[in-house]
Amino acid sequence: MTRYSVQRFRAAVLRMYLRIAVLLTLPLSLLYYLLDGTPDRGLVALLFALFVLMLRWRTRHDSEESLRYVNWFVLAMLCLMLYGTFISNDQLRQEVWMMIFPITFAPVVAARDRIVWTVVGAASIAAAMTLRPEVPTAVTTFVYVIAYLTLSFVTLLLVRHNEQNIERLAHLSIIDPLTKAYNRGYLKDVLVGEINRCKRSGQPLTVIMLDIDYFKMFNDDYGHLFGDSVLEQVAEALKQGAQRAGDYVFRYGGEEFCIVTSGLNRDEAWQFAEKLRLGIYALDIENKNSPHLRLTASAGFWCVYDTSEITPSAPLLNADNALYRAKAAGRNTVVDFDDSPAAENESRQPQGATV
Ligand code: GH3
Ligand code: MG
Ligand code: MG
Repeated sequence: MTRYSVQRFRAAVLRMYLRIAVLLTLPLSLLYYLLDGTPDRGLVALLFALFVLMLRWRTRHDSEESLRYVNWFVLAMLCLMLYGTFISNDQLRQEVWMMIFPITFAPVVAARDRIVWTVVGAASIAAAMTLRPEVPTAVTTFVYVIAYLTLSFVTLLLVRHNEQNIERLAHLSIIDPLTKAYNRGYLKDVLVGEINRCKRSGQPLTVIMLDIDYFKMFNDDYGHLFGDSVLEQVAEALKQGAQRAGDYVFRYGGEEFCIVTSGLNRDEAWQFAEKLRLGIYALDIENKNSPHLRLTASAGFWCVYDTSEITPSAPLLNADNALYRAKAAGRNTVVDFDDSPAAENESRQPQGATV
């Protein structure tokens, strides 16, 4: 998700650069036609502006696609420079350089290999200046290249800074502040992604709902603040137990957690849920309201082999249903949704188990 946010940011900055390019080149092409009497230059500037407009139009929605178009953009820029260098008779004018300078930062902002593009840009400017009909002094070329590199790196630093802020904010927006587990808002995104991934790979998907037993009374007896710290410890124990790549621990609400994982068969899913339950038992926190006299949790899970037809709420509903039965069976236990008689599955409408 954070990667996606940064991509969207880069695409937005890229579109801004494309807009600047259009705003610079369109009037420039008019000036060439009307004042300068150099229609061939005007035509090139116009074609370039149209090309940039087309890129802007193509990059309206899809940020991945926007970034892919950067290469075409750079190519067009280099063609313009080559035109200015070889085809146009007189030396490339100041305003053309001014036009090229800001737009060459687009790849610096948007491309993955930013440093490479920066060097390519600087090298192209050096080459174009060296090859043009009136060769400038080495000092002029040097100044241009240094100016280009400096501006590129300043742009790069500013963009980096913004990207880090965006990454930090995006991270905060998916984390529960108390337990530092993922929050419920992020659950839907993850479920949609994991369902699609399992659809492609053919792996089973497992969703576990886990709820602390007798927690209301625990708060009354030991105080809400201690209750909060216990929630933190429980979340930490769950994170310790769910550490494989592709394991996710969410705080679903109050003292209820949801764990998403993939690639386990039903037996393995049961073992995994059991391991999480035992991890909480092993915290060895006193709870005098429990028959075990310590903090325990109950869990229900659903392991779904065929994810091709399911919606994100289906595994939540079924895991919640299994959790309800784990509570009814005396708590401190794990129940597999598919272990129950079908009639029982359908008779209860679980509440609050939607994303
Ligand atoms: P059961 O075994 O059936 O799950 O019983 P329970 O008492 O755990 O369940 P219930 O849903 O009745 O109570 C949940 C309690 O969790 C209610 C509330 O006081 C407590 N709780 C919810 N959110 C927080 C929180 O952020 N901090 C603390 N300390 N307690 C919370
Ligand atoms: Mg509870
Ligand atoms: Mg609860």
